[in-house]
Amino acid sequence: MAIFYHSTRNSEEEYTASAAILQGLCRDGGLFVPSEIPALPKTPGELSHLNYRETALEIMRLFFTDFTEEELRFCIDHAYDSKFDTEEIVPLVKAGNSYYMELFHGKTIAFKDMALSILPYLMTTAAKKNDSHEEIVILTATSGDTGKAALAGFSDVEGTRIAVFYPKDGVSPVQKRQMVTQKGDNTFVVGVDGNFDDCQTGVKRMFSDETLRREAAQAGFRFSSANSINIGRLVPQIVYYVFAYTRLLKNGTVKEGEPVNFVVPTGNFGNILAALYAKKMGLPVKKLICASNENRVLFDFFRTGVYDRNRPFVLTSSPSMDILISSNLERLIYHISGNDARATRTFMKELEVEGTYRITPEMEEELADFAGYYATEEETSEKIGSLYRETGYVLDPHTAVAACACDRYLKESGDDTPVVTACTASPYKFMGSVMKAIGGEDVGKEDLDMAEELSALSGVKIPAAILELRNARVRHTVTCAVDGMEKEVRHFLGLREA
Ligand SMILES: *Cc1c(COP(=O)(O)O)cnc(C)c1O
Repeated sequence: MAIFYHSTRNSEEEYTASAAILQGLCRDGGLFVPSEIPALPKTPGELSHLNYRETALEIMRLFFTDFTEEELRFCIDHAYDSKFDTEEIVPLVKAGNSYYMELFHGKTIAFKDMALSILPYLMTTAAKKNDSHEEIVILTATSGDTGKAALAGFSDVEGTRIAVFYPKDGVSPVQKRQMVTQKGDNTFVVGVDGNFDDCQTGVKRMFSDETLRREAAQAGFRFSSANSINIGRLVPQIVYYVFAYTRLLKNGTVKEGEPVNFVVPTGNFGNILAALYAKKMGLPVKKLICASNENRVLFDFFRTGVYDRNRPFVLTSSPSMDILISSNLERLIYHISGNDARATRTFMKELEVEGTYRITPEMEEELADFAGYYATEEETSEKIGSLYRETGYVLDPHTAVAACACDRYLKESGDDTPVVTACTASPYKFMGSVMKAIGGEDVGKEDLDMAEELSALSGVKIPAAILELRNARVRHTVTCAVDGMEKEVRHFLGLREA
């Protein structure tokens, strides 16, 4: 059955999957959503015989119906290969009261690799299918992890260029070093004098700027997005929820049909939305536990039905979740409004103008799939320490936020359903906070100089992604003000100044 995509703010115009991937964001500012969410093609028992790549094919062919099987196989085989440092691609590790679904075994040791290692292949395939001959220019705002994962994915991919904007003082030292040392003639990295929301808003503005688009088109460029709003990122993220469930089936933790709970450390709401889609496809999932850090805008939303970004932006030890405008929430709003594009448009307008909106009581009832929690900086650090002392397993701060949410949910609900926590980054990416939390002696040193001690304490080998940073040359030194982003893009593409 063919699936088409349309905007959350207008359901009239339909796009094929490849056209939606190519475009990234809708022209009206909305996000692409599928005309319907397909059901799982096989029972979880049948799927449990498949490896990661085979599972990916089963899921992606349902959503990307205008790709041939051969094209999808090509994309999948090139994405989930030896770039990952484990044959399983996504291992499940039991520690304390949860299974940890390790999504950080790709090239840049964060979960963004799960989708960004396949997106460049999906996108270049989509360009061929749509007879698009312009050079694809990826514009990306990053809170730290997307930027590097997107750069790694698109670096030297023919027919593409990529510009990444990160908050100059809002990412971890390792994240920053990963980005400014990025190789590839088609890459461009800019530190913005602002926070992540500023970067994201700036990128969105460039997407909807008609003049910029026209001038870029005349010069042979078309813009696209590698942010988690692209359905080419969302759909690959559904795969690991299905995969994790089928592994639990295989190891006997659940029997066919028995539910699990997923806990997801959340920022832009992309990862947990993929879990919701997995549930809507028929995966036995009871609760989706949405974990926030001190930027608890989603926690408040789930408690009150009011989304309110008017609050101070807090810089935390989990920077990839330091977000007040959670882009992918728009897709949830669309679904819980009964797929009502007009209502969604109104809410998003209110968000843009007032910074806040309140959903209806009927919509609130539709949120029963979710439970929202948040963790303070202190709780997060304590959790890394206590889990380490109890089990030897070391969490990064993002996953630790999720682990706190999990504890609180279990305490409040008494629910004994097995829990799977999405482990979104390697602790090596945030060594400063992690070593402090587990009481390392090297605390205070440069981040990269703590790797040996972390390895000794955790028993986990230092990832290649860390080792290669040590001698890497800095290649990107450009910084700009929030209102200078467009100028930098024009410069990168050789367009005249506006
Ligand atoms: C991006 C990111 C998140 C948040 O994921 P969303 O899909 O934006 O909710 C959490 N943890 C880490 C390490 C990340 O890189």
